[in-house]
Amino acid sequence: MLNRLARRLPNVLSVAALLLAGGAEAQFIPAENADADAMYAHFKKAQQIAGLDLYPHFAHACIVDQHYRWTISRGIQQPGDIRPLQVMDNLYFIGQNAASSWAIRTSEGLIVIDALNNGEEAEKYIVGGLRELGLDPAEIKYVVVTHAHGDHFGGANYLKDSFGARIAASKVDWGVMEKMKTAPKEPPAAGRRRLPEAWARLAPERDVEIEDGQAFRLGDTTLRFYITPGHTPGTLALIFESTDRGEPHVAALYGSLGMPASLEDKKTVLASIDRFRKLAEEAGVDTLIANHQTRDLALQKLEILRLRRDGDPNPFVVGKQGYLRYMDIQTECVYYAIAREGQM
Ligand SMILES: [Zn+2]
Repeated sequence: MLNRLARRLPNVLSVAALLLAGGAEAQFIPAENADADAMYAHFKKAQQIAGLDLYPHFAHACIVDQHYRWTISRGIQQPGDIRPLQVMDNLYFIGQNAASSWAIRTSEGLIVIDALNNGEEAEKYIVGGLRELGLDPAEIKYVVVTHAHGDHFGGANYLKDSFGARIAASKVDWGVMEKMKTAPKEPPAAGRRRLPEAWARLAPERDVEIEDGQAFRLGDTTLRFYITPGHTPGTLALIFESTDRGEPHVAALYGSLGMPASLEDKKTVLASIDRFRKLAEEAGVDTLIANHQTRDLALQKLEILRLRRDGDPNPFVVGKQGYLRYMDIQTECVYYAIAREGQM
């Protein structure tokens, strides 16, 4: 019964497991040794960088996802249908509310970025979404798993089995997925979260390994991948060229967010953000997408896009400065967390 429920409701179950892991309920209380001055400085700086246009990103990174990670933040990221939509000339949103999936159309087929929680979701949202948008799922050549978490790899095997798609991930995160499959089902160590059992069952077999800095070509399209540890040891970020109604843009997907517990892991996150910020600046990134709608506001922006008329801007295009400010907000919110948690 529990297994059947787990297959149907992996998200609900994983949230329950996370809550059972304990400690989460006190997350909104600063540590006894919190540094109030540093908290104030970094919080204010993040808010100031955000201004009005990026305010929701400040609110999510510095407040909701830090103070209310396992309650309110999880609530606004519940599983739920989102209608698919073409976002750029070669880019399509085919995800759901809890996790995003994107298709990039090339002259030689489709690259799907992230595979949602399981085969059922991949069939409903990815395959269904592509068909609704007039694309053929049989054209899926690659499924890129941005990191070794079940809400990103869960449907990968289904897409491989159904359409012969190759599955790509970083070498490091292939190792993480391998370990997941073979790890004994022991209770987690103190302070650690239990991995949902579905993850061990759904983790794909090692296939294409993506290297740091790799130019990944398919037909007329090149994706540049970077390994940005923090969220997982081998989380992939990517930069690629796109057009919007013929106008050239450079899009980036950065997925190594979400606040880790230890100072060491936070420093890893900071280093990855810092590095990717430079890469984004060099590449002229001006378009923000993410692998969760809470990180790029896809839920809201898709509706703005659906009603778009000639002359209206594409809401996913935040501008070159806007993208760098987005990364700077993330940095300040990590420093704020360090101060709040007394890890100075
Ligand atoms: Zn994750």
